[in-house]
Amino acid sequence: MNVLKQTALAYLEKATAKRGRILDVRAWNPATIFEIDLHLPETNMYRWKQVQHMKVKVANGIYRDYSPAMWDCETSTCTLIVDAGHEGAGSAWVKQLRKGDDIVYLGIGPTPHKPADAGQMYCLGDTSTIAHFLALEQLADSPGRLTGTIALQHPNHQLEFTSYFYQTSLTAIAGKEKDKCAQLLPVIAPLTDETVYVAGNNKTVVQLRKHLRQQVSFKGSIRPQGFWS
Ligand SMILES: Cc1cc2nc3c(=O)[nH]c(=O)nc-3n(C[C@H](O)[C@H](O)[C@H](O)COP(=O)(O)OP(=O)(O)OC[C@H]3O[C@@H](n4cnc5c(N)ncnc54)[C@H](O)[C@@H]3O)c2cc1C
Repeated sequence: MNVLKQTALAYLEKATAKRGRILDVRAWNPATIFEIDLHLPETNMYRWKQVQHMKVKVANGIYRDYSPAMWDCETSTCTLIVDAGHEGAGSAWVKQLRKGDDIVYLGIGPTPHKPADAGQMYCLGDTSTIAHFLALEQLADSPGRLTGTIALQHPNHQLEFTSYFYQTSLTAIAGKEKDKCAQLLPVIAPLTDETVYVAGNNKTVVQLRKHLRQQVSFKGSIRPQGFWS
């Protein structure tokens, strides 16, 4: 990073950075997914009407976006679910977190995803979207109106998803394919008039959107949001 960018980031961090406290950290098995319970005393969660993302400091001058899920407005607590199945500054950061640590974040803001005014909603994504879609489900707050499929890598993660989030209407599937589009294609075939939310890997989002558009029986709307490439 050049000196100018580093200085600008240092200034921004000094002016706007907030702190949160880690209440607990849970690693899934294998330990490539981490749940982090956070207390964010400076955040007013009553204002959250769209799925949020927070810009978290993961190393000096390096920030990554993560989605706060399962929040409680009264206690200002929420949970991040981080996919660390690849090499990266965010993955390295999450693996060394411990209960009682503080985290630094630049801010929390809305993503374009919010519950549709009417009709069925269907979510499609990869491991990095678990928290994002649990958050959308929390906002929708209408059992049965939101369903969806999340493509994970490991069979045991699928079992853990079902056991930890037993109240969700989202379904996890597992498969080793790097190409999550191939894994998700069978579940889009029956879609007809839903509002479909697609998130995660940029290429997969584009491919799934294309497949849905080409499906003659599909008359619904698509709300894509790429996370990473
Ligand atoms: C609005 C928004 C919300 C997000 N919410 C979440 C969230 O709740 N949980 C979450 O885990 N991620 C989330 N992400 C994605 C996360 O910010 C990126 O994946 C981030 O780049 C990971 O940082 P990293 O330092 O680990 O990897 P990077 O340094 O950014 O990337 C290193 C390498 O890993 C690859 N890579 C990056 N992410 C993944 C991945 N998930 N799976 C496989 N390969 C990957 C990249 O292609 C690159 O080759 C969100 C992104 C956005 C834009």
